[in-house]
Amino acid sequence: MPKFVLIGSGLAGGLLAAYLGRRGHDVDLYERRADPREGNIVGGRSINLALSTRGIHALEQLGIADEVLRHAIPMRGRMIHPATAGRAPIFVPYDVDPNKHINSIGRAALNTTVIEAAQRYPNVRVHFNHKCTDIDLDSATAHLAVSGVEAAVSAANPQVTAKGDAVIGVDGAFSAVRQSMQKQLAEFEYDESYLAHGYKELTIPPGPDGSWRMEKEALHIWPRKSFMMIALPNPDGSFTCTLFWEFEGPRSFATTKTDDEVCDFFREEFPDAVPLMPTLLEDFRQNPTGSLVTIRCAPWFYKDKVALVGDAAHAVVPFYGQGMNAAFEDCVVLDECLAEFPDNRERAFAEYFSQRKENANALADLAVQNFIEMRDKTASRTFRAKKKLDHLLEAALPGFYLPLYTMVTFTRIPYATAAQRARYQDRIVYGSLIGVGVLGFLLLIGLFRLIAG
Ligand SMILES: Cc1cc2nc3c(=O)[nH]c(=O)nc-3n(C[C@H](O)[C@H](O)[C@H](O)COP(=O)(O)OP(=O)(O)OC[C@H]3O[C@@H](n4cnc5c(N)ncnc54)[C@H](O)[C@@H]3O)c2cc1C
Repeated sequence: MPKFVLIGSGLAGGLLAAYLGRRGHDVDLYERRADPREGNIVGGRSINLALSTRGIHALEQLGIADEVLRHAIPMRGRMIHPATAGRAPIFVPYDVDPNKHINSIGRAALNTTVIEAAQRYPNVRVHFNHKCTDIDLDSATAHLAVSGVEAAVSAANPQVTAKGDAVIGVDGAFSAVRQSMQKQLAEFEYDESYLAHGYKELTIPPGPDGSWRMEKEALHIWPRKSFMMIALPNPDGSFTCTLFWEFEGPRSFATTKTDDEVCDFFREEFPDAVPLMPTLLEDFRQNPTGSLVTIRCAPWFYKDKVALVGDAAHAVVPFYGQGMNAAFEDCVVLDECLAEFPDNRERAFAEYFSQRKENANALADLAVQNFIEMRDKTASRTFRAKKKLDHLLEAALPGFYLPLYTMVTFTRIPYATAAQRARYQDRIVYGSLIGVGVLGFLLLIGLFRLIAG
């Protein structure tokens, strides 16, 4: 059985190690951070995430979906908070079927669950505090710098190497494995694009009795045209809020500096949230401002020696709640390809890349488009009318009409197919509506002429 060296035990790294371990592969998984079970907080990233059908399917294949979902909070729709103080929020369900919902889960708990799932296989070894600095692509060798407790043990040699039959980079958006491919492969294509917005996490703590201080089973959105805040529920009664706001501009992270400026901004824009955020100023000052990047690269493999999975291959902005779900789907597809071509790993990597690349591209576009929908359109009556029409059509034409959000979130239809099908559906539906409108107008004119004549 070939030996795999995996770099990065984030969400997809742990899961992929479990998939490979299940097939009997020898796996060494290296993570630059300390063990998350020792209280290592995954800093600078979202505390909770929305898990949906694709991610759940990947967890089900390993028999760990129930374990994960036990700690999840269902979110059945968007709760839209108007800008005007005193106006009640409006609930917009995600689907015509009230049982369809997305799930708010804690990143740290999910990370621990997938790592433990991998460690159930004796052929999987996880090494924390090992940071990959470089990969030698042709020999599938990773160079690692050791830190923390592990560094004390190997003080004589804080640099180690790990050689496998293949190295898989599951090391996130700023992947060291991908950087090695960029450096060593002249034909490697790479593109990164940053949004003009950054994000900052803030907190709504639980009420005095430990209960949720807003509707628990919803994803809360404060759409404010060019920016927005969202909040996802946590099992401890709190909400994690994320403000997505311009880095620069007349009113932005850059210009809102003093405590008064921060408080004024929140009071004006999020009047119903401010009384629920007693630590607003501390959170605003202490929590980092993250950036939002889309990364596209190709190819995602080198011979039978190296492959990229998850954000390392295709980081997307978080507005469809699909980055992790897509990374989990990568693991399922890679596992299937490796099983299909057990004696030809290069073919397996190539097949995995060809199945995933156009879908990752489609998701990247959908995610950017959904930012505009969330921050701007969700506030409008037209948006709510469109959602109602979507749900009516879905109920009236089961199996024929599926709203784009439903296809992306509640099915495993490939992202590119979903995007294309949504475009066709829109053309037919809106074309028909325009047709019916024009016909009605012509009939009216005919009727008037008849009466007049
Ligand atoms: C604000 C925000 C909200 C999000 N919300 C959602 C959501 O609701 N739903 C969703 O599906 N997705 C969401 N995402 C996307 C999701 O977080 C990512 O797609 C997902 O974490 C990707 O998993 P990964 O394993 O590929 O990368 P990561 O989870 O980033 O893991 C990479 C791992 O590699 C390690 N590593 C990095 N470099 C090295 C190195 N040199 N050596 C060794 N180890 C290394 C890191 O420490 C980390 O543990 C969100 C992202 C953001 C930023």
